[in-house]
Amino acid sequence: MITVLFAAPDRDWDEFSQALRAAFAAAELEVDLVREADPLDVDYIVYAPTGWLKDFAPYTGLKGVQSLWAGVEKIVGNETLQAPLARMVDFGLREGMVEYCVGHVLRHHLGMDLDICRSDTNWAVHVPPLARDRSVTILGLGALGAAVAEALVALNFKVTGWSRRQKDQAGVRCLAGQEGLDEALQAGEIVVLLLPQTPETDNVLDAKRLALLPAGACIINPGRGPLIDDDALLAALGRGQVAHATLDVFRVEPLPKDHPFWAHPQVTVTPHIASDTRPASAARLVADNIGRSEAGLPMLHVVDRGAGY
Ligand code: NAP
Repeated sequence: MITVLFAAPDRDWDEFSQALRAAFAAAELEVDLVREADPLDVDYIVYAPTGWLKDFAPYTGLKGVQSLWAGVEKIVGNETLQAPLARMVDFGLREGMVEYCVGHVLRHHLGMDLDICRSDTNWAVHVPPLARDRSVTILGLGALGAAVAEALVALNFKVTGWSRRQKDQAGVRCLAGQEGLDEALQAGEIVVLLLPQTPETDNVLDAKRLALLPAGACIINPGRGPLIDDDALLAALGRGQVAHATLDVFRVEPLPKDHPFWAHPQVTVTPHIASDTRPASAARLVADNIGRSEAGLPMLHVVDRGAGY
């Protein structure tokens, strides 16, 4: 019998426990899925940073930790964790993120806010360019960024992607490294941030980089709050360098009541909902990864602790 500790908030238990039990059964794994256990008995941990578990040291027989989140910045530096750490990469997270990003890119591309008539006084015809004439830059071409890029290419957008290592993706102008970042930003009429939070990506959009964007650019950030220097963004919005920012993630969440983003007419705040982990698809990855580990294979999507993601 394999003991799996569910170390995520109580509110997730009902939905996830059902999905996990179904996935373990489908994978023919004999699992005791528990919310509490003697640490010495625990084989695997299903983890969320919003849960209670901070100290992994007592779990001396731990074979692996599966994060329910794609972003692992809150656990990757935890030195009490020595077992392999796998992050969430699944179709639910991916499709949710594609839908959020495509929706918000289209909002800005089409100027939907302009076209929603609230009275007969704004019956003004405005013709947006076609997608083929709109340049979108995606910072981060990983599991999520590459899927968003693919969807935007399918809609005919001119897509530039930026990553740490050079990528090759059909229809995407792939750039890498620091020189690539400048070029990617210069092309970004709409910029989508899908980078992880690491020391290297902190403030990747600072004042200097925001100044590289075409005047009137739009920013969509479903990545992580610290990717953007908030004060620099407010200044760039103020001078029209950035026309609008749609922000899903923040340095402090929930976004504090007195934060200037709330009242800013050119900022759209969404409450970290760009893509939630869906129990059914996530449970399949958890079962798959435990099955692999039990069979002596490496878990999928293991975090590179050195790189921080
Ligand atoms: P991923 O597969 O690890 O991809 C990360 C991408 O960022 C990769 O292309 C990587 O480059 C690139 N990158 C990392 N560090 C870089 C650097 N220093 N310079 C340039 N590029 C760098 O991650 P993912 O699954 O796509 O997820 C991305 C992020 O989305 C997560 O970390 C999380 O913060 C966020 N997220 C948010 C939500 C939400 O609801 N708001 C939901 C899920 C995820 P390489 O390809 O060269 O490694």
